[in-house]
Amino acid sequence: MRLGGNTLGGSNPLVSAPERSLPTGDLVQTFSIAIVGAGPSGYFAAQALQNLQSDDLRFAIDIYERLPTPWGLVRSGVAPDHPKIKSVSKVFENIAAKPNVRLLANVNVGSDISLGEISAHYDAVVVAIGTPEGRSLGIPGEQLPNVISSADFVYWYNGHPEFADVAVDLTGTRAIVIGAGNVAMDVGRMLAIDPDDLDATDTADHALKALHQSRIRDVTIVARRGAESASFTSPELRELPGLESTNVQIERTDIAIALERAGAEPEKHVKSNLDAMMAIAESPTRNVERTLRFLFEHKPVEIKGQDRVSSIIFDTPSGRLEVPCDLVITAIGYKPSGLPGLVIEGNGYANNEGLVSGNIFVVGWAKRGPSGVIGTNKSDSTEVIHRLVESLGVPKNEADMLPLLRERGVKVIEQSGWMKINESELSQGVLQGRPRVKVTDVDEMLEIAQSNQ
Ligand code: NAP
Repeated sequence: MRLGGNTLGGSNPLVSAPERSLPTGDLVQTFSIAIVGAGPSGYFAAQALQNLQSDDLRFAIDIYERLPTPWGLVRSGVAPDHPKIKSVSKVFENIAAKPNVRLLANVNVGSDISLGEISAHYDAVVVAIGTPEGRSLGIPGEQLPNVISSADFVYWYNGHPEFADVAVDLTGTRAIVIGAGNVAMDVGRMLAIDPDDLDATDTADHALKALHQSRIRDVTIVARRGAESASFTSPELRELPGLESTNVQIERTDIAIALERAGAEPEKHVKSNLDAMMAIAESPTRNVERTLRFLFEHKPVEIKGQDRVSSIIFDTPSGRLEVPCDLVITAIGYKPSGLPGLVIEGNGYANNEGLVSGNIFVVGWAKRGPSGVIGTNKSDSTEVIHRLVESLGVPKNEADMLPLLRERGVKVIEQSGWMKINESELSQGVLQGRPRVKVTDVDEMLEIAQSNQ
């Protein structure tokens, strides 16, 4: 399939899409594409396909999703106190509303249906399943109770149905967050801010209740390298002095040393980060009971405790240091959870510029590893979709997969079912003055999706 020059650059979101059951004339080719994973990179892949449609080239897109709810990390990853970032879900719903896209949620690719079956059935497959497992430190004591991976903790406060029961003990006063990336920052903020500030957010009810009862007052984000090497982004750092109920503390000398090490011409993002950190270091101290502090050049080597974590030992430039704590969250990056048919390589799946093999492609974190912000996935998915479309031959015109899934007893939730869940959450939100009240139980989601509301 060669793309016409006028369609390659087509980024007009208003390009009209065909009905799924198009009367295919001789000149119209309709290719069936499966996207596995309804997160940002999956939706951006669907959007890229929509933008490449022309009078003689159409796509019928099925988006498979393991959970009954779509949006991936926009629903389950983005911190609840960052609602603006979640507004991209409107873009996803516009993509989903086009008639050539179908959501097949509550379908587990790997157990309900295999990747091989999907690949045999569709003209091409785009795997967009992210990298949901937390990386581990690999140090003694990591298995102790109350040492929790950000992968679990973030899903817990965001109401991911499989993580509603994570054992989070907030009865102690001191929390340590390991890592110097934006996830560590999200987690640190969620633990350190006044829970009243979360009342008007979509934080899961169980987490909101636990955070209100939390006795954590001292949260420390710990980087193993100097401030010049931190992976935070500066907008996230710049918002910290605005936290009214929390003192944010950075040692001025840590930033002065980092500035010196960064040299006369540091990279733009390093300079921007260090400027934002210096502004925090120079902010006046507030008379409030909550503290969020940053430690640099502390490499964790051992976690200690009996029934629960009680301290963590760091290698520091001035020797070993034992820091007492009651909770440890590790926010040190993510890795793939594996899918039969794909080979894990590094922090993602083996691929060559998005091509896995045959008609299988991969996008997003599953392709490049867990890096970049949500918008990064748009250009990434678009590039891979161009490659995919270039590789197409003639349409397979296989039968619909939905009857087979139903035959297997899979309770598939389509867009109309998801919209009922969405409406239900939104209307509960209106009653409580919140963006939404998340349903966190799969059976309840299924019940709502199948109701006659
Ligand atoms: P990340 O940015 O890659 O940061 C991971 C951090 O973990 C790094 O500071 C790394 O330190 C540290 N680390 C790794 N192994 C370690 C170890 N063994 N001991 C101690 N520290 C260790 O990953 P992330 O925070 O999970 O974020 C993933 C992506 O999502 C990033 O691109 C991030 O910007 C994005 N994100 C964006 C937002 C937002 O825009 N608001 C929010 C959340 C996430 P080293 O550098 O020394 O390896």
